[in-house]
Amino acid sequence: MKIAILPGDGIGTEIVAEAVKVLNVLDMKFEMETALVGGAAYDAHGHPLPDSTLKLAKEADAILFGAVGDWKYDTLDRPLRPEQAILGLRKNLGLFANFRPAICYKELVNASSLKPELVAGLDILIIRELTGDIYFGQPRGRRVSPDGAFAGAEEAFDTMRYTRPEVERIARVAFEAARKRSKRVTSVDKANVLETFQFWKDIVTEVHKDYPDVALDHMYVDNAAMQLVKEPKRFDVVVTGNMFGDILSDEASMLTGSIGMLPSASLNASSQGLYEPSHGSAPDIAGKGIANPLATILSAAMMLRFSLNQEAAALRIEEAVKTVLAQGFRTGDIYSDGTTKVSTAQMGEAVVKALRS
Ligand code: NAD
Repeated sequence: MKIAILPGDGIGTEIVAEAVKVLNVLDMKFEMETALVGGAAYDAHGHPLPDSTLKLAKEADAILFGAVGDWKYDTLDRPLRPEQAILGLRKNLGLFANFRPAICYKELVNASSLKPELVAGLDILIIRELTGDIYFGQPRGRRVSPDGAFAGAEEAFDTMRYTRPEVERIARVAFEAARKRSKRVTSVDKANVLETFQFWKDIVTEVHKDYPDVALDHMYVDNAAMQLVKEPKRFDVVVTGNMFGDILSDEASMLTGSIGMLPSASLNASSQGLYEPSHGSAPDIAGKGIANPLATILSAAMMLRFSLNQEAAALRIEEAVKTVLAQGFRTGDIYSDGTTKVSTAQMGEAVVKALRS
């Protein structure tokens, strides 16, 4: 089981270190190799996704990723920005299906910004298509001002685009996932305005014919954004495009108490996957040792389940996370009165201790 460890920037290095501690305590035979990615790789090699890092990622069974980005790279040309590393990994490895479970642990019901009764028992799976949509459409560009500066430009454009195979395969992933849950899928689109999403809706409806045991409904993205905070438990599996999924999954993260709790898996057709927390590199808290490592630790659990076929070990980690929450340990983002505030490293150690016992 070969795992590429790509911590990245900001809190990425801090939270991945804790997830690695957790993996090490499982007493399993992993081959782990670490490489630079994002801004750290740009600083060292002049590119956010150096060939050596891409090669390591391609050869691995799974990638454990932290986060990339920092404001200091905002002036770089887009292909050199840290975030391009993620897009490059997704494209090169064909990682088309992004799973983001949003689960509200009972101990964190009060950490959510919504009323406890709205989120208690919440368990949604958002499945976001990752390789199409406006992030990868052609052509994209901008008409720059004579001095090449963006602020003086007259126009900028990106193109929304999906192909039939892209929509078919993500629809199948969603219906298959729903079969293992409560057999309900909500497909989120903007078919009333965008041709791309009428196409999406029609194809999801076609694919649904092969899954008569699964209930399908369609919802416009603006309504879905509203329903997520009005009545989140009405959803089970939500499938949507790249951009809507990006936004809705961040919204869903707050239902769970903190974005620091939300893991994710990005899979290709052969179950090779990239596992990362749903949040970014949080430059505002980087280096302070206060970031919540649980989203990354839970991502490692997803890695064991989906790419390494180690369901029992995945469950052990998830149980250990529940144990530390029940014991009252909280990083600052999920802290509330009566609980014990801990650092990133202390939270990692608490999970390790729970696993050992
Ligand atoms: P962010 O997710 O990094 O941070 C948003 C807020 O959530 C901040 O207040 C941050 O302190 C907090 N936060 C995030 N993770 C946390 C954790 N584990 N524990 C406690 N608090 C946490 O989003 P942002 O500020 O919009 O972006 C910062 C940088 O991250 C940007 O450069 C952005 O492009 C990049 N980014 C990277 C990824 C990725 O690597 N996949 C994803 C999103 C954003």
